Amino acid sequence: MLAFLRTVVLLAWSLARVLASRAVGRGRGLREFRRAYAADNLLSLSPDERAFMDDARGCIACGLCSLGALPAEIRANSHGNMNLFLAASRSMPEYGVVLDDFAAADEGTLEALEANCPAQVPMRALVRFVRRKGQALAGNGPSTA
Ligand code: SF4
Repeated sequence: MLAFLRTVVLLAWSLARVLASRAVGRGRGLREFRRAYAADNLLSLSPDERAFMDDARGCIACGLCSLGALPAEIRANSHGNMNLFLAASRSMPEYGVVLDDFAAADEGTLEALEANCPAQVPMRALVRFVRRKGQALAGNGPSTA
């Protein structure tokens, strides 16, 4: 019975602290997130960016985009387009590497790859997203759109 009462008191105290913190506008969630994950190259996402990432995660790793139709500059520098799109849509900490590989990707090539993608991965938008976030990670742009 004593343990139960102690638990109730602790929960009530925690709830009161959270509510009081919110009431005076001192929510720390986003600030704490940025502090905790900056070293891991993770940025916060806006609701629109989260929705976009849900759309961009459709890659089924079929490998079609790694077969031809990509400029030699990209091919020479990458582990294949499939790996790039998988990393770009799933792993922000790898954006530094992916950004270098995407440097030579032009809209026309990406459009052609996109047209052949069975999962309809939005490659052009994904590359733009990686470039924008890559700049933010390098300290050259806003962290959210
Ligand atoms: S073609 Fe589309 S689904 Fe297939 S590996 Fe490339 S991005 Fe993924």
